[in-house]
Amino acid sequence: MKTPKTGEMLHLRGNALDKGEPVALPLTQSSMFHLPGAPDGHATYGRVDNPTWVHLEHVLSHLEDAPCLTFPSGMGAISAALLATVTAGSRILIPSDGYYVTRLLADRFLSRLGVSIEERATTEFSTDGFEGFDVVFVESPSNPGLDMIDLATVAAEVRAASGITIADNTTMTPLGQRPLDLGIDVVVASDTKAMGGHSDLLMGHVASRNTQIMERVEEWRRVSGAIPGPHEAWLLHRGLETLDVRFDRMCSSAQVLAERLAAHAEVKQIRYPGLQDDPSHALAKSQTSRFGFLLSLTLENEAKAEQFINSCTLLRPATSFGGVHSSAERRARWGDEVDPAFVRLSVGCEPVEELWQAMKTSLDALA
Ligand code: PLP
Repeated sequence: MKTPKTGEMLHLRGNALDKGEPVALPLTQSSMFHLPGAPDGHATYGRVDNPTWVHLEHVLSHLEDAPCLTFPSGMGAISAALLATVTAGSRILIPSDGYYVTRLLADRFLSRLGVSIEERATTEFSTDGFEGFDVVFVESPSNPGLDMIDLATVAAEVRAASGITIADNTTMTPLGQRPLDLGIDVVVASDTKAMGGHSDLLMGHVASRNTQIMERVEEWRRVSGAIPGPHEAWLLHRGLETLDVRFDRMCSSAQVLAERLAAHAEVKQIRYPGLQDDPSHALAKSQTSRFGFLLSLTLENEAKAEQFINSCTLLRPATSFGGVHSSAERRARWGDEVDPAFVRLSVGCEPVEELWQAMKTSLDALA
């Protein structure tokens, strides 16, 4: 698997600087740009261009090895990718067990525009083929179940049936999994999670090597006004500078913790693609460069799950994931079809032994 050169990424801007320019990215907080005469390729208006976005998108494009456009949230990016690819009468396929707001977007809005929507579970996604689908949306590993699908096979089969594939790569980031290199047409991601990494911003991006699709996505952003704020763009750019070290630490710690948690008497079931006996292990080994930082635990009952989450001093009881602070929540509280005692746990950047001691203390107290 080709991995992005993150050293080169850190110096992308620096290597193009003129003498005296700041090394850190300047934040351009302006809706207007000095524009006498013909608007000939300069920044025009804040809904159309912003130099801070441009630098951020340069870095994201380096990571994705593809043109990239940023949005004010992951859902903003997903909406843009879907609205740029569907038309009235389109048939789309989405996972029944992926991030639930993507299903809501399809059911509550796209269906009213004459788009027909089908859902399939991630583990059975390919069983009935892809004939007749215009857009196939995938999420692998799925959030929260951590099931995976073979992206290269799905991409090839959908392409053979003349459809477009969109992959939500939020849970892995481009450092862990590279859907575009596997033949997927469009990547979408919530950069609110590990890409930003500090739980202080919402953003998302769309990446694709298909020029026509990217033109539509750009037009959608410009016309709908679904643009990121310059400050968020600046924060995300700053977060990306440490993505490599954060992601490395998070994935390494997740592996250590998953192995220890699997052996703890209070844990009834654990899912982590890095565990040898996990249903996603074989696919993860061939398709991802890391096993990720998300794991899920099923404890004995809802009360014990709540006690574990709320008593562990190094776990923030919070929704979302991918931040420097480890966090956890019961997904059933949002209506995900999972056991009431199913806990999604996002491993952060705390030293792993400290984290394990804190988790073990909380788990031991459940006995
Ligand atoms: N995709 C996945 C897999 C997610 O988990 C989320 C949010 O949790 C999103 C998309 C939406 O991202 P945002 O909250 O930035 O809109």
